[in-house]
Amino acid sequence: MQPEFVIVGAGIIGSSIAYHLAKRGAKNILVLERDAASDPRATAPDLNVRASYARATGGFRVQYGTLVNVRLSMMARSELLEFESLTGMDAGYEPCGYLFLAQDATQLEQLQQALAVQRSAGLEVSSIVTPQEIHALNPYLSLEGIAGGSYCPWDGFVRPLAMRRGYQQAAEALGVQFKFGCDVTLERSANGVQVACDGSRLSSNAVLNAAGAWAAELMRGAKLELPVTPVKRQIAATVPTQVLPSDMPMSIFAGDGFHLRVRDGRVLLLMPFDFAAQNLTYDPAWLPALLSRTHARVPALRDVPIETGWAGLYEVSPDGHALLGAHWDAPNLFLANGSSGHGVMHSPALGKLLSEIVLDGRAHSLDVHSLRPERFLEGQPIVGNSLL
Ligand SMILES: Cc1cc2nc3c(=O)[nH]c(=O)nc-3n(C[C@H](O)[C@H](O)[C@H](O)COP(=O)(O)OP(=O)(O)OC[C@H]3O[C@@H](n4cnc5c(N)ncnc54)[C@H](O)[C@@H]3O)c2cc1C
Repeated sequence: MQPEFVIVGAGIIGSSIAYHLAKRGAKNILVLERDAASDPRATAPDLNVRASYARATGGFRVQYGTLVNVRLSMMARSELLEFESLTGMDAGYEPCGYLFLAQDATQLEQLQQALAVQRSAGLEVSSIVTPQEIHALNPYLSLEGIAGGSYCPWDGFVRPLAMRRGYQQAAEALGVQFKFGCDVTLERSANGVQVACDGSRLSSNAVLNAAGAWAAELMRGAKLELPVTPVKRQIAATVPTQVLPSDMPMSIFAGDGFHLRVRDGRVLLLMPFDFAAQNLTYDPAWLPALLSRTHARVPALRDVPIETGWAGLYEVSPDGHALLGAHWDAPNLFLANGSSGHGVMHSPALGKLLSEIVLDGRAHSLDVHSLRPERFLEGQPIVGNSLL
């Protein structure tokens, strides 16, 4: 029997879509994942898994500078609060806060503008904070050159592996079939696209692209365009240390994106960097720039060595926002791509919204017109606050 719905990619968004489709009563759903190492039982980072969710920091934030991103996060948070009762897994949501740090008056003004957007989306708990308040929230940061910041106590951390596993086990309980070790290619067909895998072809009513940073590569087989680009991001992890507390807020220097958190007894350090290659190989060339910022901004880390690090891929769209909905040129192909580094935290919302689009022809939990995939062809990208 041909499946009615084929989801390509059992990452965090594909698993969320599978769960939400099945929860709505959809039957005959198949999820195809190429990485056999995407073991549903994994709960610790597994670098044999290429998927970005397995390499992510686990940050969750509602503080954004566009209405649609704030609303996606608020919607996701509602599901995170009841995640365990829905899926049987604890998503590990810990609202330790995100602290954005402005290094000049212009950046502070941008944080203020973002706050106004958050208010108009109905978020009341975020606020602008003074350097003194920053010190109270995170006394481990040097305040040199800090003009102020913003803070939201709903922001914090989640456990990406536990979330993905929760979605998979809840979807399976509702009858969804997951198949690992299937490297999928797409081909054109009469109603849009069909899936080819392991020498066989599957014609289904709906094909859902949840292939993360490889979403555009997947579509090339069907000669379809998708403006989603893989961009390398790295994490450096210190040796186990207690110099910073585990509930320290995620602290982000808004100007250059340097940020840090504590996870499982290590400090994780991140920073955008112009890497020579967009692949999964860890590149130590960024360490001098990373460490000079670390030592100047977090003096407590001056004597704490880096023990390990890894690379992963962001799935970046031209305006930094997700593409959600049917493909303009292939009616049975649906996209949940281009989250641009926010796909773990937005996966609860994107999975639910795409299931509504597929089953009902439109999303009704949230107005996601601005995320329509064809907005770039129409010359109407989302214009937002470049800082966050
Ligand atoms: C270093 C780093 C830190 C990050 N930190 C955060 C964070 O703090 N918070 C946050 O929200 N997000 C974060 N992200 C981003 C987040 O990981 C992604 O946005 C998210 O994982 C996207 O989900 P996805 O399901 O679309 O993609 P993925 O998680 O990458 O899953 C896609 C799946 O599709 C499979 N696939 C691809 N092509 C095929 C094919 N042809 N056939 C079959 N299967 C295929 C892949 O193997 C993979 O399993 C981070 C990313 C990186 C790299």
